[in-house]
Amino acid sequence: MTSHELHVLSAEQKQALLRSVLRKRQEAAAGARMPDYTRQSYDLFMPGSDPELSEIRRFNAWVDSTIAAGCYTFETPRHEAQRPENVLVRENGELLPVVNMASYNYLGLSYHPEVIQAAKDALDRYGLGVSSSPIAGGTILLHAELEKALVDFLGLPGRGVSLFTTGYNVNTGTLSAIIKPGGHVILDAAAHMSLAEGAQLTRGEVHTFAHNDLGDLERILRSITRSGPARIMVCAEGAYSSDGDYGDLAGIAALARRYGAMVLVDEAHSILVTGPGGRGVAAAQGVLDQIDFFVITFSKALGALGGAVITRRDIARYINWYARCRLFSCGLDPAVTGGVLQALRIGAGEVGEARRMRLRDLAARLRERLRGRVQLVEGESWIVPVIYGSDERTLLLTDYMQRAGLETSIVQYPAVPRHLSRMRLFVTSEHSPEQIDRAAEIIVAAARTFGFALSEGAFAPPDGAPAAGPQG
Ligand code: PMP
Repeated sequence: MTSHELHVLSAEQKQALLRSVLRKRQEAAAGARMPDYTRQSYDLFMPGSDPELSEIRRFNAWVDSTIAAGCYTFETPRHEAQRPENVLVRENGELLPVVNMASYNYLGLSYHPEVIQAAKDALDRYGLGVSSSPIAGGTILLHAELEKALVDFLGLPGRGVSLFTTGYNVNTGTLSAIIKPGGHVILDAAAHMSLAEGAQLTRGEVHTFAHNDLGDLERILRSITRSGPARIMVCAEGAYSSDGDYGDLAGIAALARRYGAMVLVDEAHSILVTGPGGRGVAAAQGVLDQIDFFVITFSKALGALGGAVITRRDIARYINWYARCRLFSCGLDPAVTGGVLQALRIGAGEVGEARRMRLRDLAARLRERLRGRVQLVEGESWIVPVIYGSDERTLLLTDYMQRAGLETSIVQYPAVPRHLSRMRLFVTSEHSPEQIDRAAEIIVAAARTFGFALSEGAFAPPDGAPAAGPQG
């Protein structure tokens, strides 16, 4: 059966097919020998290189051999929307039914019927794209509606909004517009790659403080301001996606204020998911109004793509003109804008509140099922990282997991330190308790197979491991 034929089946037929495929896979896995992965490595960062072989040829040789070994798990297309269960379509046409814990669709809003309808309505009215830079003619009425909805939702009526077509661009565009050569950017060590790259684009001085370490941040602030006032931006996040922990935003805001620095907080993973009414971690810590640049993306709980920075109105207007990736690029597309507006309405209301509570309970359930059995990064959030250690396990493990019926988001070096490779489990409010339990059992079975189950004492993370690096 091809993936196109799968499309015409009823939901019941699809479920029956998935069950039978899964059963066959499990039977085959029980009887079959593991493919020979021993020659596969995921270490693209080996020192030195063959001068005869360019980096690109070397990379492609690696990808080809991995596909030939049947264990290439990256960019595997899925068959449907980002629902709690999905079917992966492998390179060779194999269909793998999985519990989907690899998507940031935390509240399931990407496929909410009212969100889809709103996107269709916007598409009908405005067409597919805006075909121009927002400054030069690519602005539609819906953009202004979304800007107003965002400041109303956050309870920051005096603020301005600058919309971007990706969350990545919000960070690179904002930092490069605001910090000039001679200025300073101070990044939390676990800050996202878009913040790290944005910092480089400023051509100012870039500093890094140990993850969530206020003492280290103050040391840097003191050394910069010793020779007089400077333009400084401190960058942190609401919920960090590598460890699933929260930024100490109240502490950072207070310190920054003391040293005359500005604060940018990226709430990509936390907006609409936590805090009062879903307003995020800064709101939960009571400092939302002290954040100078409040960054959100539409690609996580809002179920779409794009993003925004909410800041002083005059500064937002300046960013609209001076963020190069906004000025020299097309405006946010109508269907996404309409869909995000509707997702925001739903997420800010009763449905959003109910989904946030369900999400919290499901995340706690998953942590409880895994605690003591595998090495968890402890926390309270809906991002549950399980450390499996060595990068050498990555390929085998992701292939094994997909075949066993679970897709997770894998992060390894250089996104996190060596030996702290992890699978991140993104819980959504739409997972069922049964799917959560099934996922936990698959992980524990994988941990036994690959030797990182805690009870067997086979795995001990290194002492004093450094904080995570920039996330991809
Ligand atoms: N900021 C953070 C903290 C992120 O995790 C990501 C992507 N995962 C981004 C920004 C980039 O967002 P987008 O995918 O919307 O471009």
